[in-house]
Amino acid sequence: MFAWRRAGPMLFALLFVVLLVADRSAARAEEQAPGAANPDLCQRAKFRVVVDVGHTVDVPGAMSARGIPEYAFNLQLAQQVKQALADAGFGDTVLLITATAPWRGLFERAARANAMHADLFIAIHHDSVPDNLLQTWQYGGQDQHYNDDYPGYAIFVSNDNPHRAGSLLFGRFLGQELQSRGLQYTPHYTLALMGHRRRELLDAKAGVYRYDQLIVLRETHMPAVLLEAGSIVNRQEELQLASAERRTLTSAAIVAAVENFCTARAKPAEAKGAAPLRHGTLDSRP
Ligand SMILES: [Zn+2]
Repeated sequence: MFAWRRAGPMLFALLFVVLLVADRSAARAEEQAPGAANPDLCQRAKFRVVVDVGHTVDVPGAMSARGIPEYAFNLQLAQQVKQALADAGFGDTVLLITATAPWRGLFERAARANAMHADLFIAIHHDSVPDNLLQTWQYGGQDQHYNDDYPGYAIFVSNDNPHRAGSLLFGRFLGQELQSRGLQYTPHYTLALMGHRRRELLDAKAGVYRYDQLIVLRETHMPAVLLEAGSIVNRQEELQLASAERRTLTSAAIVAAVENFCTARAKPAEAKGAAPLRHGTLDSRP
């Protein structure tokens, strides 16, 4: 009786330890289960993102409302995106800077990303509007051009990219992450006044447009998107886009979208076997 009173608590403690160990091994087994939605399946160090700096020093793209070329905005944001991705474990990220002028330079960007066997291509740009929508004001003692009507980001994908579904998936993730940080997309690409620059909105929630002809999206052999991070001809948004806060926000959204995408890409092993079967079923229909 005396012995039992001493052994009771010890047995109870032993049982507790056994249960704890069993629980931990179960958790480990769950982590390692193939096909489970777990970030560990995304091998960040091996997932290569190419961050393409839009335009060149000599042909710098749009001009901001205060006379700063788009290329300067693109370079600064892209550098921060690269650093943020590296800090998040995507150490294989490549910053793509091109000196060759378009059109040759555009094909060169895609060729370089293809040669690197990149897993994802993100072109960084800042938006403007067609010349006929620009107004003139004085800034710094000079005539500058602006349009305050269409602030916001825009995301483009090409249906001519061989990874059309992957491109759209990443575009959606990116739009969702930008919006969860309080940013809005610009709907003006759907307006008739955009003329031949008018685009089909593929995802009206995330702000993903279809732009098949874009060379960097069409010629790349991996999922590819082009991000217009905001409008630099909008006098208010230009100031935000020039701030460290906005760059940090956009970079964080891109990192989160890449994490989501890498995890989603790591899963298809389970679906691979099912795909041909579905095809067979469809093909055998009368
Ligand atoms: Zn641009």
